[in-house]
Amino acid sequence: MTSETVAALLARSNRLGADPRNTNYAGGNTSAKGTEIDPVTGGPVELLWVKGSGGDLGTLKESGLAVLRLDRLHGLVDVYPGVEREDEMVAAFDYCLHGRGGAAPSIDTAMHGLVDAAHVDHLHPDSGIALATAADGEALTKECFGDKVVWIPWRRPGFQLGLDIAAVKEAHPQAIGCILGGHGITAWGATAEECEARSLEIIRTAEKFIATRGAAEPFGAVVDGFSPLPENQRHAKAAALAPVIRGLASTDKPQVGHYTDSDVVLDFLSREKLAPLAALGTSCPDHFLRTKVRPLVVDLPSTASVEEIVARLSELHAEYREEYQAYYDRHATPDSPALRGADPAIVLVPGVGMFSFGANKQTARVAGEFYVNAINVMRGAEAISTYAPIAESEKFRIEYWALEEAKLQRMPKPKALVGRVALVTGAASGIGKAIAARFAAEGACVVIADLDLEKANAAAAELGSSDVAVGVAANVTDAAGVKAAFDAAALAFGGVDLVVNNAGLSISKPLADTTEADWDLLHDVLAKGSFLVSKEAARVMTAQKMGGDILYISSKNSVFAGPNNVAYSAAKADQAHQVRLLAAELGEHGIRVNGINPDGVVRGSGIFAGGWGASRAAVYGVPEEDLGKFYAQRTLLKREVLPDHVANAAFALVGGELTHTTGLHVPVDAGVAAAFLR
Ligand code: NAD
Repeated sequence: MTSETVAALLARSNRLGADPRNTNYAGGNTSAKGTEIDPVTGGPVELLWVKGSGGDLGTLKESGLAVLRLDRLHGLVDVYPGVEREDEMVAAFDYCLHGRGGAAPSIDTAMHGLVDAAHVDHLHPDSGIALATAADGEALTKECFGDKVVWIPWRRPGFQLGLDIAAVKEAHPQAIGCILGGHGITAWGATAEECEARSLEIIRTAEKFIATRGAAEPFGAVVDGFSPLPENQRHAKAAALAPVIRGLASTDKPQVGHYTDSDVVLDFLSREKLAPLAALGTSCPDHFLRTKVRPLVVDLPSTASVEEIVARLSELHAEYREEYQAYYDRHATPDSPALRGADPAIVLVPGVGMFSFGANKQTARVAGEFYVNAINVMRGAEAISTYAPIAESEKFRIEYWALEEAKLQRMPKPKALVGRVALVTGAASGIGKAIAARFAAEGACVVIADLDLEKANAAAAELGSSDVAVGVAANVTDAAGVKAAFDAAALAFGGVDLVVNNAGLSISKPLADTTEADWDLLHDVLAKGSFLVSKEAARVMTAQKMGGDILYISSKNSVFAGPNNVAYSAAKADQAHQVRLLAAELGEHGIRVNGINPDGVVRGSGIFAGGWGASRAAVYGVPEEDLGKFYAQRTLLKREVLPDHVANAAFALVGGELTHTTGLHVPVDAGVAAAFLR
């Protein structure tokens, strides 16, 4: 049962975390101390509930709390070996856990346990970090808060910082909290209400101080030619650049992209101080762990052409990698973890916006959010003083901290398609929907492209948030619509890696009844549609230089000569030959092109529901409801084929085991000898 203390702690954490002005995503931690009955002794035991490692205050639940015995935590002070060996104390926290201990204790546990107050909040508000990173932050803290809030110079989070804050609280009984140089704020209180009120007082007072005392244009004037482009031009340019930038940012390992063109970003990109401030990098450890020590900034005006920007990007990217390697070499010691990759996580393009990258969409989006936090911090610091982030050597110590490395090593092996972006046409129904679901389940980001936006969005929503899937309206017969779908993929996830030509429909008629319109429609959607989609896919994939996969959901009918099917089967044969032709043409770019020949997928298929089932049933002389079973009986395996079986084949082709296979067709028909490939 949740105790009152825990319930109040969770409610306070959720309230504080819900407002981005109070702390960045997943940043900061909160705690409460209280007494419970120890089930072992039946006597009282003093406990600390503190947000554990990872997780976000806004959505914190009881399972996200670590629970420690205070007596044992205080006991650590006596065995603390000094700041040089403070990291050893993290392992020692495990010996202080109460019961099963809940979530893993974070590095900030000491601060919460050692400060003599029943409730403690440690937060990363933009306004607080602005003071914390102002060159004369100590004097400004005094000016802003008098003796109510105490300045503590930068120190890497850990046991010593906990001792420092505890000592400051003891020495300043009038203080409600402190500004942690280069980092954030900590507040304390005797009750949950008092602690929360004090946190908010520090944050809001700092905001007001910056607003009233600060300069009007902290980033300097808008530079001629660097103003934001109008939205439609901005998005068109961003879509053209995204795959190129994603490709560069994925030089070491595949990354997913996120694009932001909020006013805060566009304003920063237009200002005089963009280059010098960006070069100083971010300061709060949370920020630069996700954003890398500094972003890559394109030094061309908004009016530069896509070609000019692409050419400049490859030079800047090479320089960025060299500088990152030099940064590593400057600070690495023999026991430092190996370099983790030298590509930028944040790329800023004046007039256009910010591209942020991560191993998955959530990480990419949060990196972008953190850079927005960093912009706010720089603006605040520059408004009242000069932005002075922590020293580069300290950033390195945190980025390549053994504890950080251990955290990364503990992360589970990613699923097969993590980091890959899929676009599936006709994915609002049937086979396409099953493929999209399978790809999403394997970790891919998915773009559901279909005729009807509402249906596409609904199918995307079934797969999860917009970090997992987005819907776009696209008629594959329309070149402009197809391009718009790929542009949407570029803006949503940075580009595409897996493209599935699945959109389709069926008309089954004898030759004499097949109209020109029937023929044209089937050839438009199946043959021309997949040609247009593959053409766009190849354009984006070659720009990315990350290889890729194109799949065709062709049909058994592409090889099988059945009755009353001339238009559909001929169009399917066209698709099947596109597989071979494009496999031959695109291999040099690392793009594999393969096909799947399903048959008799009745359940879940809109094609069968929409009249095709009735007409096939009539052709074979069986009742429509028995068509699935009929198809099963005429197969070698006597099994009914479902959309999931086709999705399994699609995953098998792209999941990483068939890296040396292209130009292949995989039958998913439960065995139809007449459609065997030879
Ligand atoms: P379905 O009707 O359930 O799904 C097809 C989807 O494609 C629909 O959501 C539809 O809106 C979309 N679509 C149609 N025209 C489009 C266009 N011009 N642009 C964009 N989207 C469009 O059908 P399904 O059975 O899942 O079929 C999917 C694919 O599998 C088709 O290419 C079909 O020919 C092929 N196939 C199906 C079977 C089968 O037995 N169901 C067998 C072999 C091949």
